[in-house]
Amino acid sequence: MRVTVCVRQGLDGEINPFDAAAYEVALRIPDAEVTLLSMGPLGVRDFLLRLTRLGARRAVLLSDAAFAGADTLATAYALSMALKKIPTDLLLCGRQTLVGDTGQTGPMLSVLAKLAPITEVMEILSCTPQAVCCRTRTEQTLTAPLPALLTVERVANLRLPSIRSRVGEVEVWSAADIAADPARCGLAGSPTRVVETRENQSGRRRCRRITPAELPAVIAESLARQRQERSEKNAVNSSLHILTVGEAPLPYAYSVSANVSVLSLVDEEMLLEQIRSADADAVLFGSDAASKLMAARVAARLGLGLCADCTALSAEGDELLMIRPALAGSLVAKIKSRTRPAMATVRTTGSSEAALLVAAGLGARNALPVVEALAKRFSGTLAATRRMVDEGFMPYELQVGLTGRTVAPAVYLAVGVSGAVHHIVGMQRSGTVIAVNPDPKAPIFDYADFGIVATAEELAALLS
Ligand SMILES: Cc1cc2nc3c(=O)[nH]c(=O)nc-3n(C[C@H](O)[C@H](O)[C@H](O)COP(=O)(O)OP(=O)(O)OC[C@H]3O[C@@H](n4cnc5c(N)ncnc54)[C@H](O)[C@@H]3O)c2cc1C
Repeated sequence: MRVTVCVRQGLDGEINPFDAAAYEVALRIPDAEVTLLSMGPLGVRDFLLRLTRLGARRAVLLSDAAFAGADTLATAYALSMALKKIPTDLLLCGRQTLVGDTGQTGPMLSVLAKLAPITEVMEILSCTPQAVCCRTRTEQTLTAPLPALLTVERVANLRLPSIRSRVGEVEVWSAADIAADPARCGLAGSPTRVVETRENQSGRRRCRRITPAELPAVIAESLARQRQERSEKNAVNSSLHILTVGEAPLPYAYSVSANVSVLSLVDEEMLLEQIRSADADAVLFGSDAASKLMAARVAARLGLGLCADCTALSAEGDELLMIRPALAGSLVAKIKSRTRPAMATVRTTGSSEAALLVAAGLGARNALPVVEALAKRFSGTLAATRRMVDEGFMPYELQVGLTGRTVAPAVYLAVGVSGAVHHIVGMQRSGTVIAVNPDPKAPIFDYADFGIVATAEELAALLS
């Protein structure tokens, strides 16, 4: 089985954590001949060399000034051209990088390299020369014929090299080596443009201190207020013609225009036809796995720029401005598309998401029964920080944050959560945030509307 793994070096010099999981998953496939593929400056060669010690026989680095400044479409194009020279039965990518955090390159690559895609893979259940069968994050069992492309969740820790392990070979290929069209590479080939970045203050809130006894009333009032505010939110300021795929992105569409049409997410060919004939200014998709995969595939097939995971939209004349967090949420970027219609996925939450999420952080690890009882009492569901997942207290499916899910419930009750930026980016669109933490200086209070300085255990009194 010829397995290729796309890997990227993070800003910290280490392998992107999702790619690390994809590499480990590849190494565990019996009889896999693993090749690594990366794009970046020449310095990335040493990084790849180190990674070959874990089992890949060969690594290919795409390095050329022509590749610099590539967005997801231009990156997927370059990788697809390289794959023409790397025979591959199975291509594994991490679900997303931490730098770009778009999750688009894999799905776009599936179109350009003609590979059957399965996204958000938690586990490969079987892999034969004909097909691969996987369990996904939404607990689906999906099968794809080979050659296939999988985007892998952060489900495995990458092994360490042994003292006896040897380094493999790293080949460096230029744009000419892969016969890439310079007009489709790097900045020149990137339809999306970042027009402005600024420090992200968006999650910050003014926190009012309350006592544990006030919590039930605050939750009830917040749930009622959020329901009303969400139904009143539609402010119109342009005449842009906007298509939404499904109804989930409608609040975003109506925040910039009243000229909105809804398409259904059924069939890729039908959707392509509708988008081609609609003469729209923008097309918006939701952020569930199926919508994200479809958005990336449609963008790749139409050669359009796609902005991932927008948290707000605005209009500037007849152009759509797409606003999204960048660099692990520390920055907010304003993005325009050079191609029309502009395409974006917007952060939406599934209709199945409860109005109240009760998130447990490491500080609540000894009071989980209290957290569960609170969720039950207010008809909420549970969420977790990464540390709770890493320490084995809660399953990965419940993790909120940069390397977990993005949520936006009406009320987010964070118990024993410190408020690291990696967690905040996943919950900052929640309606009302309530934090419970005994440390009055915990950063979570900067992102909360209501704060209770208390331990999780002290909330038990509310339940008696
Ligand atoms: C690349 C990268 C990606 C990451 N992705 C994510 C992600 O997706 N999601 C995520 O959550 N994190 C993520 N992290 C980790 C993140 O940086 C933090 O380490 C993590 O969010 C902290 O989890 P925590 O708040 O549960 O634990 P801690 O930071 O240990 O905080 C525990 C808190 O509990 C409080 N406490 C102590 N005792 C009690 C008590 N009895 N009752 C109540 N509170 C108490 C403490 O005051 C403290 O504030 C990522 C990190 C990196 C480097």
